[in-house]
Order: sequence, then structure tokens, then C-alpha cells
Amino acid sequence: MSGNDQDELELFRLMLEQSARAVVFTGAGISTESGIPDFRGPQGLWTKGGKSTNFDEWLASDEVRQRAWARRFTGDRVMEGAEPNKGHLAVAKLVVDGKVSAIITQNIDNLHQDSGVPAEKVIELHGNSSYAKCLTCQTRYEMADLEEQFKRIAHIDPCSRCGGIVKTATISFGQAMPLDEMERAQEHTLACDLFIVLGSSLVVYPAAGFPELAKRTGAKLVIVNDQETPLDPVADLVINRKIGPTMSFVVGIN
Ligand code: NAD
Repeated sequence: MSGNDQDELELFRLMLEQSARAVVFTGAGISTESGIPDFRGPQGLWTKGGKSTNFDEWLASDEVRQRAWARRFTGDRVMEGAEPNKGHLAVAKLVVDGKVSAIITQNIDNLHQDSGVPAEKVIELHGNSSYAKCLTCQTRYEMADLEEQFKRIAHIDPCSRCGGIVKTATISFGQAMPLDEMERAQEHTLACDLFIVLGSSLVVYPAAGFPELAKRTGAKLVIVNDQETPLDPVADLVINRKIGPTMSFVVGIN
């Protein structure tokens, strides 16, 4: 580690020490060290040419929906076996110690909760892929039950309560943002004095509006990301390093 690298980590540590109320904002980059590919990093799914289904296409066609379920139950299941890494554990310690009031996450992988953070401290802007919900009446469905149904009849039935469409509890491209989560994220952002971005390309809106809002309203902004982001020029500190080693050093865990 060079002298400059050491200096920026010490500065980050000092900023944390001086903060009375911090917020952590995470993107897919915090979970790559758990083996889950991101979208836009060098090994990202989109960098390599993949694409996501748009919500309107998915809603319009049962065939598209059933193909998506088939991918879910037969394709690459890396997210399901993944475990929290040092980055998640360091963030969990900051929450447990009362330093961080909330984690605002774009991730859908449940790894903040798996690392021991109480669910009410995790604000999921893009939902959660570990369970499903009826789009009409919000009845929750467990993935294991849906998988059993799909293996039996090669189809996911409409909601047994209201006949609505059942969907993984994620927010897809083109789907409306969850209002309650957006409001809570805004409250925590406005109340913090330090806003820490971990592993986001900061190009997906409205999520990327939160670090902007934090900075505009007087909080300090720290970005830890191994690529440049559009908000680097306004940040108080940018650390172009891996999240796991950076956060475990700064938080003092091994
Ligand atoms: P992104 O893919 O656009 O950007 C991730 C950023 O993290 C990249 O700039 C990359 O260089 C950086 N990065 C990757 N690994 C890193 C590491 N170990 N240390 C430091 N930096 C690292 O991700 P985004 O900004 O979160 O936006 C993508 C969207 O994709 C989100 O809406 C999210 O819902 C979804 N997504 C989620 C997951 C997940 O839940 N784990 C995975 C893929 C995509």
C-alpha cells in the first residue's frame, strides 16, 4: 500500500469517527466479492453483453413471464448460494455500533440482512429477489414453493387469493419505484452528516439522486468504487479500491 493509499484510508477513518450519523448506500459492487456479478464493472453482466427484461414486456406476455421463471429455476443460481463478504460485515458493524442509521441499497440479494443487519435498517430501493409477491394484493410467495410448482407443471399460476400476477419481489426496469422506501431513503439522507457510497456506478436514477441530495444538503460524500463515477468530482473523498479490504481496514475488523 502506498503512502497516498494509506492517507486516504486514514482520512476515511477520521471522517467516520467525526460523523454523528452516517448513511451507507450500496450497489452491485459490494456483492462481487461474494461471487455475484455486477452489471457495469469490468466483469459485469452488461459489460459482457447481457440484458434485462423490461417490466412492460414481462407484464404483457405470459410466455415472457414463464421464460423468466424458467431462467430463475434452471439458470445460473449464483445469488442464492452467496454469503456476505467482509464489506457487508464491516457495514453491519457500523449499523450495530449505531454509527450508520440505515443502509440504502440497490441490491436485491438480501446479503445485508444475511450479514446480521436488522431488516428495518435496510432500505431496498429495487426490492428483493429471495421471495415473490402478487402484484395486485401483495401476498407473499416463497421461492421454494414456486420452484416446486414450476417443476411440477412448468408454469407459475396466478395468485391463489386474487388471481393477480405473481412476480419476484424486485423492481424491474420500467416498474414504479416503491414509495415507502423512497421516502425513508430521503429522510435518512437528509438527516445524515456523512453519506458513503460502496460499489455503485451511480448511473441508475432515481437511486443515484440520493448521494447528490446528501451532498447538496451539507453532508460529506465518500465514494468507494474501483471505477470512476459521475459524482467523483463533487465527492469529499474518492477511494478507487476494493470494498472488502477497504471497509475492513477502516472499520477495524479482520
Ligand atoms: P453497477 O453494476 O452499475 O456498478 C457496480 C460498480 O461497482 C462498478 O462501477 C464496479 O466497477 C464497482 N465494483 C464492482 N466490484 C467492486 C469491488 N469489489 N470493489 C469496489 N468496486 C467494485 O451496479 P449498480 O450501480 O448497483 O446498478 C446496477 C443495478 O443492478 C442495481 O439496480 C441493482 O439492483 C442491480 N444488480 C444487483 C445485484 C445484486 O443484488 N448483487 C447484482 C447485479 C445487478
